[in-house]
Amino acid sequence: MSHFVVVGAGQAGSSLVAKLRSSGFDGKITLVGAEDVPPYQRPPLSKAYLLGEMEEERLYLRPESYYAEHGIELKLSTRAVGIDPVDRILTLEAGEEPIHYDALALTTGSHPRTLPAAIGGDLDGVMTMRDLRDADGMAPELVAGRKVLIVGGGYIGLEAAAVCAKKGLEVTLVEAADRILQRVAAPETSAFFRDLHGSHGVKILEKTGLERLLGEDRVTGARLTTGEEIATDFVVVGVGIEPATILAASAGLSVENGIETDSHCRTSDPHIWAAGDCASCLFEGRRIRLESVGNAIDMAEVAALNMMGQETEYAPKPWFWSDQYDCKLQIAGLNAGYDAIHVRDSGAGARSHWYYRQGRLIAVDAMNDSRAYMVGKRLIESGKSPAPEAVSDPATDLKALLKA
Ligand SMILES: Cc1cc2nc3c(=O)[nH]c(=O)nc-3n(C[C@H](O)[C@H](O)[C@H](O)COP(=O)(O)OP(=O)(O)OC[C@H]3O[C@@H](n4cnc5c(N)ncnc54)[C@H](O)[C@@H]3O)c2cc1C
Repeated sequence: MSHFVVVGAGQAGSSLVAKLRSSGFDGKITLVGAEDVPPYQRPPLSKAYLLGEMEEERLYLRPESYYAEHGIELKLSTRAVGIDPVDRILTLEAGEEPIHYDALALTTGSHPRTLPAAIGGDLDGVMTMRDLRDADGMAPELVAGRKVLIVGGGYIGLEAAAVCAKKGLEVTLVEAADRILQRVAAPETSAFFRDLHGSHGVKILEKTGLERLLGEDRVTGARLTTGEEIATDFVVVGVGIEPATILAASAGLSVENGIETDSHCRTSDPHIWAAGDCASCLFEGRRIRLESVGNAIDMAEVAALNMMGQETEYAPKPWFWSDQYDCKLQIAGLNAGYDAIHVRDSGAGARSHWYYRQGRLIAVDAMNDSRAYMVGKRLIESGKSPAPEAVSDPATDLKALLKA
């Protein structure tokens, strides 16, 4: 009987094993995960779960019983530490028997970047946000009236800022770049979120880096690159992630900004696939890595089919969302290389930013405007580019653009 093994029991790993079973794979499946909880969704960790509005079980992607009921061996609290690609053996942490595989998938996710110890990154009270235990460790810090410093104005930092502000903390966010969200969004989107956070009392300092954190054992303050010193009770670090590629690299797989996969989600080894945050894939002739739930699910499902012998191509359809206060941001497409942006104000707080490159619609940021998001996504996927004047005219019926 064939044995398929998946390393990394997160969003992609869980989707992959479920897809194997729902597609009729009747061999043996083992899902190995380093964490002590069944696969769960991470987005609520910096949103409803951190706010205390969601129970832990509701994070689980499938009930814990699902895995045994579907003949999937779920090995939690178990880290894979080596791959022998020649004999097809996966080595686990000390004490666990090695596993022989016929096909292997790596869905090992990513790690948050941390601040160097030399600038105080190892002080108590300096936190990152990646897993359930991080969120559980942070939650008791969220007491009204306390001060928090957030380092990094990307989505994780901004979502943490929103939760802290809602909990009544005094929030300062520093961003070393010229503006928040600089890496991922247009100045118009940055401005929208700067204003939104400002209206909730969050102090955003752009073009301001962190020189060092202050404190003996526990962080008590920070010196900024402007020379200013500020007091803080704790720090949330949101300065990006690194793909978890150590296992793949040690097995000799090609790695560049993630585990390299081909158009079928296969790595440089014909018996090993990869999906999710840890994997890079081809998109419009470029090698990219997407850090999103949508990509983790879609890529894992394609990998599952191909492990079963199909030849399904993976065509990334990037989409993402973020919740901050009462604003739902939905993003369709990738804005890389955009040369024009067109703003649509649909009224009643609904707004969208449409990115074009050489006249082609490539991405849409929609704030409280799910219609703009849906229409934009479908237009991008079908390669249609409506006239910019039409999208920015609030009188245009967006759905009609799909028929044009
Ligand atoms: C706080 C937060 C908020 C987010 N919000 C959004 C959002 O709003 N929208 C969105 O689209 N995306 C969001 N994301 C991103 C999204 O959650 C990730 O893109 C997605 O979880 C990636 O899935 P994955 O399976 O690749 O990785 P993960 O879900 O991280 O799973 C990887 C798993 O592999 C395990 N692992 C790693 N190495 C080993 C090993 N050697 N042995 C065994 N196990 C191993 C890890 O412990 C982990 O459990 C958010 C992420 C975070 C952290």
